Amino acid sequence: MTHSDPPLPHVPPLLTRAERTGFAETSLHADVVGFIRQVRRLAPDRMRVTSMGKSAEGRDMPVVVLSDLDAFTPAAAHRAGKPIVMVNANIHAGEVEGKEALLAFMRDMTIGELRPLLDQLTLVFIPLLNPDGNDRISTENRKLDLEALEGQVNPPGGVGTRNTGEGWNLNRDYMKQEAVESNNLARLYGQWWPHVFVDCHTTDGSIHAYDLTYDTAHTSRSGHPGPIEYVRTKLLPAVSDAVWHNDRRRGFFYGNYVDQDDPKSGWETYPGLPRFGSHYRGLTGRLDILLETYSYIDFAARVETISAFLLEIFRYVAAHAGEVIATAEEAERDTIARGRDPQPDDLVGINYGAARRASDGRLVFDWPVHPLEETTIVVSSISGERGRHRRQAHAAQRSLRRARRPCRHRGRGLHRSGLRKDREPRHLHRHRTLRDCAERSTRAPRGALPERDAVHSNRAAAWEPRHLPARARERRRPGALGVLRPRRSHR
Ligand SMILES: [Zn+2]
Repeated sequence: MTHSDPPLPHVPPLLTRAERTGFAETSLHADVVGFIRQVRRLAPDRMRVTSMGKSAEGRDMPVVVLSDLDAFTPAAAHRAGKPIVMVNANIHAGEVEGKEALLAFMRDMTIGELRPLLDQLTLVFIPLLNPDGNDRISTENRKLDLEALEGQVNPPGGVGTRNTGEGWNLNRDYMKQEAVESNNLARLYGQWWPHVFVDCHTTDGSIHAYDLTYDTAHTSRSGHPGPIEYVRTKLLPAVSDAVWHNDRRRGFFYGNYVDQDDPKSGWETYPGLPRFGSHYRGLTGRLDILLETYSYIDFAARVETISAFLLEIFRYVAAHAGEVIATAEEAERDTIARGRDPQPDDLVGINYGAARRASDGRLVFDWPVHPLEETTIVVSSISGERGRHRRQAHAAQRSLRRARRPCRHRGRGLHRSGLRKDREPRHLHRHRTLRDCAERSTRAPRGALPERDAVHSNRAAAWEPRHLPARARERRRPGALGVLRPRRSHR
């Protein structure tokens, strides 16, 4: 007599909404929360779920920590001595690939074949930074318009909105911190103080041949250059090569053609201002990576591409753990030491204008609010004698008087040239029309305004060392990071 073993009960594989629908749909907030709960049930010893707070409309903002060492709190994770990598997704909720990739990684790193990576890393995932925008799902959002070079090949079920439910563009809000979601992220970032931060986007800028473009902070004049140089010259090229080798997906540094219609016109990047997350994190001296999947490949290919880049980043950081931690820690030590012993030619490149709404809702800029060019920054020791303090006070008063004079650059700034469509990367400086925005927002009185951008000025990007004292000019001569300087003035 023969018998075969009784068939195993059928356990449906754990799939994300995108996987389950053949990439026809992306996950809603409830799908994300439900999926996380399911993975957590299967791998309680490798995963903790916490919350970074609530969105403006009261949706929970989950944070998932993956570790094999019980390193589920910031203190425990830093004690464990492994690099901490924080990954943020869906800050622009029409750019959903990172969210889908992070959900799949949660599964594959706890109960799947990627488990061994957790031996070498602590991972902190934010799958849904903009849950209110995410659930305003529509096929009209980021709709493909090749004529205008906008939108993307969407999943047929549609995607969320770029801005939050309240109308904030979170990737312009890092300095002003006006959105509750920005506050939640800043608090979480400060608590965890990760060595590496990755931010996931999708770009609908110039037509090019890359499946993904990447970048790191540009704030080398104000932030510590160590982490910027490391990510730019070592980590990103190595990751890009590995993705090409293993997945045949192409990557390159983020940018757009100077003239969208002419690829020969040059490849230019966006201003190094800390209203953008990457540059903000550059100022904090940690390693930052921006990922921009290419809008014009299909949704499934985009998820595959960003997953490939994330995986190679995890592998690189795991394989270079000592180097990565040392780079971040050295920047931290240097920065603290510089703060304790300030020098007269220390340079802090902060230059911004103040924005207000005109009666028709238009954004108008008054700037410069703070003088920067032709202004001497006086630094004296705290224990300095009275005369020095008096001189410092006089210098500050002179600066203020000068700042109040009408600026000779007035009328030549951002409002004139900086936002010209043909000179700025569309993805980063898009200004929605009133009608466009009103249509996108289902709740609206405040949504009737155009995109609520924080303020920015291109002058910082165009700022040349000739305005500095000779000694500072010498010290700040662009070396290996010179390539970060914009190729041309935006004035
Ligand atoms: Zn984006």
